[in-house]
Amino acid sequence: VRPLPPVRLQAADLTIERNPECKPKPDPSALIFGKRFSDHMLTISWSEKDGWEAPQIKPFQNLSLHPASSALHYSIELFEGMKAFRGVDNHIRLFRPMLNMERMHRTTERSCLPLFDKTELLQCIKKLVEVDQDWVPFSQDASLYIRPTFIGTEPSLGVSRAGKALIFVIIGPVGPYFATGSFNPVSLLADPAFVRAWKGGVGEFKMGGNYGPTIAVQTEALKQGCQQVLWLYGPDEEITEVGTMNLFIYWTNTKGEKELVTPPLDGIILPGVTRQSLLDLGRTWGDFKVTERKMGMKEFLEALDAGRILEVFGAGTACVVCPVGSLLYRGKTYQIPTMQNGPDLAKRFYKELTDIQYGRKPSEWAPVV
Ligand code: PMP
Repeated sequence: VRPLPPVRLQAADLTIERNPECKPKPDPSALIFGKRFSDHMLTISWSEKDGWEAPQIKPFQNLSLHPASSALHYSIELFEGMKAFRGVDNHIRLFRPMLNMERMHRTTERSCLPLFDKTELLQCIKKLVEVDQDWVPFSQDASLYIRPTFIGTEPSLGVSRAGKALIFVIIGPVGPYFATGSFNPVSLLADPAFVRAWKGGVGEFKMGGNYGPTIAVQTEALKQGCQQVLWLYGPDEEITEVGTMNLFIYWTNTKGEKELVTPPLDGIILPGVTRQSLLDLGRTWGDFKVTERKMGMKEFLEALDAGRILEVFGAGTACVVCPVGSLLYRGKTYQIPTMQNGPDLAKRFYKELTDIQYGRKPSEWAPVV
């Protein structure tokens, strides 16, 4: 039996070393995702022997790692993606951040990394955002992206549980996903030869190892003139996710009912915070049926042919919702009428979520930092 770690992760132990040389803030309208970082970062070290060290906020800097660190060899790495928004009232808000902490905790367990107190880690992240608050863009189109990361730093090549580990959090401003006011539909490559995640695997966890191998497939999509990948799975070619977004289909089902469909969380789907929010909103509104169920390519294409597909969109932190305009499948391009249908539902979700995020609509989903 492994002894309990001696020290808990506690926000009260946090120390802050201010950066004496703060950088100028970039124009948020001209930002490329993930290239700019703020002046500070959060680090929290753990070892089997001593438990959690005091969390530190310090000037943004390189990490120093032993070259045998298990993150570098066996992908003992996991991450989260969340955002902070500057509201119309100038208050800074997060969006359902405990859902990210819970997902991070589940991924931590699956990675055999040491468990932590979710509320305490969130407190530390809020403090980091507060220290770098000037980095939260003064814009209702931009936001501050938050990247909590957890790596194994065990300095040993044995394929075994890491006895040393490091949580770090870096943050940086990100610009609008869509040019103001207009949705741009994406084209997708749906090729059943490629699989993102599989039953018994780790697709439902946010591990770095799930993402690196998708880049070659994304490159193939671009080569074939498509912008993103529609991930299919199994003999029925189930529609699972799109790029790094959950997928939603709004259609008229065979009973003639308007229905919003997304695949169920059966192990191969990343449980998105945006996904959960669209399901919650749709169910609260009660204006259409909301169903978590599988849909294969055959069923989808039959419905498309019958004119029953109204809107298809991806959902994720990056864009909130992203309309799908076409699909390349087995050499044939299928047009999807998402834009022709408004897209009324995608726009409604986009407005509701951004109203909450930017404080235009009060909600428990958006706690002030
Ligand atoms: N699916 C995958 C594979 C993802 O990486 C993400 C991004 N975290 C999502 C869906 C969307 O999740 P969220 O709404 O939490 O950003």
